[in-house]
Amino acid sequence: MNKADQRRYRRQLTEMRERLRSAISRRAESIVADVSPPGEISSQPTHIADRDAEGLHTDITLAETQASLLDDVESALERLEKGEYGRCESCGEEISAARIDALPYARLCIRCAEARESGEKA
Ligand SMILES: [Zn+2]
Repeated sequence: MNKADQRRYRRQLTEMRERLRSAISRRAESIVADVSPPGEISSQPTHIADRDAEGLHTDITLAETQASLLDDVESALERLEKGEYGRCESCGEEISAARIDALPYARLCIRCAEARESGEKA
């Protein structure tokens, strides 16, 4: 991977990190508002506190997904700094350009990702 590619991915990943961070903190505020008894957070709009349990569950699931994505993005940025970016964390092979383009935060090559997925399902 050349320097220009690295800069491009670094920019993409940095933008993703910022977006995820703000999305997560907004969602965390909304979850806190949901689980707090009414009246405890007086500054929150009432429509958030009134949402049903299903909405809260969706929020928590999304927050977990975003948090794990943020973790992947931060780890990819770390690997960029260390010059290890673009290599599979499991087998050390280079991750294909197509995969990196689609998932700049990918930790694993397609082969290891598929192996892990089928392992998890089994
Ligand atoms: Zn691999």
